[in-house]
Amino acid sequence: MSRMTTHRTNTRRTTQRDTIVEVITQSPGPITVEQIHELAKKTIPSLGIATVYRTIKLLLENGTIQTVVLPDGLSRYESAALGHHHHFRCRACGNVFDLDICPVKLPKDMTLPGGYTVDDHELTFYGTCPNCQ
Ligand SMILES: [Zn+2]
Ligand SMILES: [Zn+2]
Repeated sequence: MSRMTTHRTNTRRTTQRDTIVEVITQSPGPITVEQIHELAKKTIPSLGIATVYRTIKLLLENGTIQTVVLPDGLSRYESAALGHHHHFRCRACGNVFDLDICPVKLPKDMTLPGGYTVDDHELTFYGTCPNCQ
């Protein structure tokens, strides 16, 4: 009886986690906790925001997802499996989208004047997304 209960609890937790992972990986860009909650509720209407926070913490710890922090100060989350990419933030709706183009063409380990050796870069584009045009 108690084993049955444990099993059922684990299954439910796994389903919640899977749903949250799916919401994050299927999003066209990094999304906030509130957005994850809204989208995951379509699959699990009873899902509480506290569970979303807990699951995100766990997914960060086990390396499934990573945090994206833009100058608007909000933490957004995306799959940690994404390769080098950049973000586009829409000024109209505030959503952030992944761009798989990289316009930065630099030689590897380029040294800048002053002796700075560059091995990576971050770049965020701003403007209006297709939905808002
Ligand atoms: Zn937009
Ligand atoms: Zn790049």
